[in-house]
Amino acid sequence: TTMANHLPTAELQALDAAHHLHPFTNGHELAQKGARVIKSAKGVWLKDSDGNEIIDGMAGLWCVNIGYGRDELADVAARQMRELPYYNTFFQTTHAPALMLARKLAELAPGDLNHVFFSTGGSDANDTNIRLVRTYWAEKGQPERNVIISRWNAYHGSTIGGTSLGGMKGMHGQGGLPIPGIEFIDQPNWWVEGGDTAPEEFGLERARQLEAKINEIGPDKVAAFIGEPVQGAGGVIVPPETYWPEIQRICDQYGIVLITDEVICGFGRTGNWFGSQTFGIRPDIMTMAKGLSSGYQPIGASVVSDEIAQVLSGTDFNHGYTYSGHPVAAAVALENLRILEEENIVGHVQNVAAPYLKQKWEGLLDHPLVGEAKIAGMMASVALTPDKAARAPFASDPGVVGQICRDRCFANNVIMRHVGDRMIISPPLVITPDEIDILIDRARLSLDECL
Ligand code: PLP
Repeated sequence: TTMANHLPTAELQALDAAHHLHPFTNGHELAQKGARVIKSAKGVWLKDSDGNEIIDGMAGLWCVNIGYGRDELADVAARQMRELPYYNTFFQTTHAPALMLARKLAELAPGDLNHVFFSTGGSDANDTNIRLVRTYWAEKGQPERNVIISRWNAYHGSTIGGTSLGGMKGMHGQGGLPIPGIEFIDQPNWWVEGGDTAPEEFGLERARQLEAKINEIGPDKVAAFIGEPVQGAGGVIVPPETYWPEIQRICDQYGIVLITDEVICGFGRTGNWFGSQTFGIRPDIMTMAKGLSSGYQPIGASVVSDEIAQVLSGTDFNHGYTYSGHPVAAAVALENLRILEEENIVGHVQNVAAPYLKQKWEGLLDHPLVGEAKIAGMMASVALTPDKAARAPFASDPGVVGQICRDRCFANNVIMRHVGDRMIISPPLVITPDEIDILIDRARLSLDECL
């Protein structure tokens, strides 16, 4: 593979076109432009096959929280592979890496979230959650309590279950989803949907849709509500402050299991270990992945409360993945958490990186195209608009300007994503103020080129 890394770019692109099907990629664009080949990475910097140095404003896919190139993780992986490359935790076996990681997650997770079911990523952790929460209610003698409420524009993964829980209509359309028993309420996206309502009032209104939906379905039929503390792939939609406390009140009042999907928000992204802490949420289940291993190994987890674990322990939960708690992935995740903790990376976010990024990010508001700038710790978005006061969309198809801006960023060696006409970033948490300056300079240059 290292040899292949030295093949000419054109040859690698030809192999890519001949044999590789890409996730979430526009086929026409890919055929025209070819894929950019990433060769190596260190810190917040990627290197491509033409020798360009690219600043990674997305930490891969929101996951490389500790930055690239940490040898400690490679060393731990090699050691674990030599000692025990694989064993499972099915049928009354276990192994130390899974246990050590489960104990660490129980320690880090708030409240009584003390029990861990491992997966290989966020999507299949959410699949686990669907089966787990329905099994929980069935075990409690309420099998009819099986509806899960989610939100439009949520992203919970790409498996059948993850896509069904997600609220991306384009994804539902491919494959006849969602599965039965998933219901949706609107997202708390004030910029697009808030109209004349003040953000705080709008946050309450959107949260109260949950109560209305529960009453429409029947409170004795609702199993759970799931939400990302900050909708990430939906465009970094930071909810008004009033939103989550009202969701919490409603879940408490109706006895509904509250699942926070911490796949992006977890492990320091919003300035605390978990987004639930930043927004004052007390979940019964958390979904984790991405920052759990900083992306160095594929691993995810559903972390559940004492009560849920106790009920489940009364049954055979006929569910599990060959790689649940994979020893190499678990050992690498544990080492990643050690680095996050010992190097006080969450403290770096709180005290240095997030305040500096906020100041620079909100500085983009003086740009003629930028209508709204939102930030939660180290995830941020701007809404592009031709008319700030009217919060107007562009006359062209939605997303065209965002796509042009994304392409300009790509050309200017900064990775940013667009979601429709929102531009988003989520850089490695270890980014320094000097690197933030470079990121913002390149973002501004790219925005200028869209004028
Ligand atoms: N949940 C959230 C909030 C996500 O952002 C993602 C991925 O972006 C997922 C779940 C799916 O995780 P994975 O791609 O690891 O399956």
